[in-house]
Amino acid sequence: MKICIIGGGLTGLAAAFRLAGSHEVDLVEKRDHLGGCLASYDRERYWIEKFYHHCFVGDDALLALIRELGIEDRLEWLKGTSGYYVEGKVYPLNTPLEIARYPFLTLGEKYRLAMLTLRAKKLDVDALDGVRARDYVLDNLGEGIYRSFFEPLLRSKFGERSGDVSAAWLISRIAIRSHRGLSGERLGYLNGGFQVLVDALGDWIGKHATFRLNDPVTVMGRTGDGWMVNGRHYDRVVSTIPPQELARISGIPLAPVPYQGAACMTLAIDRDVTDGVYWLNMRDPAPYGAVVSHTNFAPVDRYGERLVYLASYFTGELPPRHDRVMREDFCKRFGVREEEIRWQHMAVEPYAGPLYTTGYRERLPDYAQDGLFIAGMFSRPNYPERSMEGSVRAGYEAAELAGRM
Ligand SMILES: Cc1cc2nc3c(=O)[nH]c(=O)nc-3n(C[C@H](O)[C@H](O)[C@H](O)COP(=O)(O)OP(=O)(O)OC[C@H]3O[C@@H](n4cnc5c(N)ncnc54)[C@H](O)[C@@H]3O)c2cc1C
Repeated sequence: MKICIIGGGLTGLAAAFRLAGSHEVDLVEKRDHLGGCLASYDRERYWIEKFYHHCFVGDDALLALIRELGIEDRLEWLKGTSGYYVEGKVYPLNTPLEIARYPFLTLGEKYRLAMLTLRAKKLDVDALDGVRARDYVLDNLGEGIYRSFFEPLLRSKFGERSGDVSAAWLISRIAIRSHRGLSGERLGYLNGGFQVLVDALGDWIGKHATFRLNDPVTVMGRTGDGWMVNGRHYDRVVSTIPPQELARISGIPLAPVPYQGAACMTLAIDRDVTDGVYWLNMRDPAPYGAVVSHTNFAPVDRYGERLVYLASYFTGELPPRHDRVMREDFCKRFGVREEEIRWQHMAVEPYAGPLYTTGYRERLPDYAQDGLFIAGMFSRPNYPERSMEGSVRAGYEAAELAGRM
């Protein structure tokens, strides 16, 4: 069969990896490169992801793919420490001692938090789909835990829509992240960056299928027993772009998925400003929700400079001059002089992830009709958290359906 895959992000690449070889596959991507949200900057000496990425021990499909591609020697498990920035100070929160010393939660609150982490896997998340995370935490854990712990997390992840996020999302997320050791979490990374994965997929697929880069799909429609996509005929189509984008170009009435955008600044400096912490959540209000010091995770000598992400999410329009505002705030707050910043890049992605608002679990989009299959960040394998694992699985599932005769 002749199959068109729309989108060269991880979902599209995973689908192509399964279908190419047995079918005639075209992968159509609007940009001049593959990878989508997993794409990287080429800094000549090294690649660095435009958006911070790491993987988890439970990412079975992703880890199997890494083995299948023969790049498992690049996989490493590194310590992913985290902390909070409160009242102008960094508080690492990894070891029991650090947690015991954290002054913004009482002993009772720390105990309740620990109990929730232990219970999360057993809670019935379906029953929580209609409950707001905010209300769940306030009702079950109290105001102190909400203000000091969950509100900054939710704000850093969902920005101004954080109040609408469902408790089903929050509890599922706690459950998948509850594999911590005594000194923090082990997180996976590829030596050389996840560009190694994108390249390995690109190399393999390139030998068995056709890439059509710089080719945004602007029009597609049903014809006979197949589809016309940008004027070319296909028997089947796998679309990995947001449902509302697909609806716009095809006229198929697909319900839109509420998305949030991400604006992420990557900058290079010469010194560590987060006291060794990898993932620093901002409890103090700031134009970014987290400061992610990549080189407190991956070894700094690989890069020859310190790499820091300023992570923010937005809904609707990106606030004006956001890059300038972020940079100025970062310099002021962390005592960095402007001239210390060696270089900076800003990545803005309007479709950075679905907003897991109340009822989302019930509304997870599914479409497999007339030879058209949709899969992506919005699909079931990407709930409760869009991830590389979810995208690989979503791509495989769509490929399985599309490849059936
Ligand atoms: C800020 C951020 C941090 C993340 N961190 C992690 C992490 O630490 N760990 C983890 O596991 N996951 C992480 N993820 C999630 C992971 O990056 C995504 O799940 C995955 O990359 C999504 O792949 P996708 O193919 O579904 O979507 P996308 O990557 O969005 O790919 C869609 C592709 O379709 C293309 N496209 C769109 N419209 C058209 C069109 N009309 N015609 C042709 N092509 C089109 C786009 O250019 C894009 O290449 C993160 C994501 C973000 C945004």
